[in-house]
Amino acid sequence: MRRLRRCKILATLGPASCDKETIAALHAAGADIFRINMSHADHAGMRERIAMIREVEQDVGRPIGILIDLQGPKLRIGAFGADSVVLARGAAFALDADKTPGDATRVHLPHPEILRALEPGHTVLIDDGKVRLEIETATAECARARVIVGGRISNRKGVSLPDTEIPVAAMTDKDRSDLEAGLNAGVDWVAVSFVQRPDDVAEVKKIARGRALVLAKIEKPQAITRLDEIVEMSDALMVARGDLGVEMPLEKVPGLQKRITRLTRRLGKPVVVATQMLESMIQSPVPTRAEVSDVATAVFEGADAVMLSAESAAGQYPVEAVATMNRIAEEVETDSVYRDVIAGQRSAMPQPTGADAIAVAARDVAETLDLKAICAWTSSGSTAFRIARERPEPPILALTPNRDTARRLALVWGVHAIVTKDASDIDDMARRACKFSNREGFSKEGDRIVIIAGVPFGTPGATNMMRIAFSSAEN
Ligand code: PGA
Ligand code: MN
Repeated sequence: MRRLRRCKILATLGPASCDKETIAALHAAGADIFRINMSHADHAGMRERIAMIREVEQDVGRPIGILIDLQGPKLRIGAFGADSVVLARGAAFALDADKTPGDATRVHLPHPEILRALEPGHTVLIDDGKVRLEIETATAECARARVIVGGRISNRKGVSLPDTEIPVAAMTDKDRSDLEAGLNAGVDWVAVSFVQRPDDVAEVKKIARGRALVLAKIEKPQAITRLDEIVEMSDALMVARGDLGVEMPLEKVPGLQKRITRLTRRLGKPVVVATQMLESMIQSPVPTRAEVSDVATAVFEGADAVMLSAESAAGQYPVEAVATMNRIAEEVETDSVYRDVIAGQRSAMPQPTGADAIAVAARDVAETLDLKAICAWTSSGSTAFRIARERPEPPILALTPNRDTARRLALVWGVHAIVTKDASDIDDMARRACKFSNREGFSKEGDRIVIIAGVPFGTPGATNMMRIAFSSAEN
């Protein structure tokens, strides 16, 4: 089974998609990799879903990626005596260290480190930005604020602090325990929420020790300020537009999306565009024109993957949502404008390594000679990442002896991965690349493909050769 598009689909699992049949249907409709959101799943639930995905993987004979999303330091206010209160614009309201139930003048903020970090002038957003406060005076015990945008707030609503660098690590105790459980269950990717600094990513990588790749969710202004360092530290990024649009003015999000997708592409790291892509499909079998255009934009930008959240996790039409994304991506990628847009964003200079130079050359050769596929023998997957960075016109076939690599590549633009034992010599390398390329429908007898590999075989990170091969009948 092969996809007819390069952009991948990341579908979040949830109550609407927690049985094996639905997971199989989502995969058949186009989901390449699944997200388990640890804000909503416990360890047993996570393991159950992973087991189902692995069964589907076995049934369809294609590698499927699994990403767990760590909740991160999601801040919340305490409770009110009356469950909710209405704050009027211009009124005074305090966040304090007092655990007693709140009222229309104050509420507990159960995060002492945040109380200490708040300063006059900082904005405090409650419930995804529905209520906005501005701090006037702040002590370690009590931050007094003015209500700038009023509204009703209820018990334990989320708090966002666009101006305040939170002086705690990005990982909570819950995240640590979720991460350990996820790694033990064999997840392929770990997403880190509310990243503020490169160290937040480094911490997760240190614990993961290569057992999973680490994706940084860009959803805070502090991460935008240090984007270059964060992308350097991460294996992939997500444009997490949900929280990004709460913590920053909404109208800045499209520009940031473009900046982040270009930066990651230049560095050959995957990027996921996420949140509200087909939001109306939570309740409707057809999306809005604006949503279709939004998905199309991400595909035109060359995003590695587009994500579904509630649409596939909790909506009424999870399979239809994936099928819709699939259709949009397929259509965009065959549009005559698509190759122009993609080529226009190609970065001029690869990194000065042999592997990078060969990846660029492979794209050049394949496009000049109209070859049917670029085949890469890769053990860690890094050669496939590099070819994907070039966004070549022919499909990318990654041949790897490593099952984990094949699963990780489910997130990477245009890569069709196959698990097979390492090539034994140069003839075997060419013969089996042609065989797989024909078998998977990329090429047929008489077609040519380009193959890249590292010789001697079996030494990771040594891509040093390129060969053009004919698919002959014996293959
Ligand atoms: P979330 O992250 O769904 O875990 O909040 C994505 C986003 O904020 O866009
Ligand atoms: Mn988020």
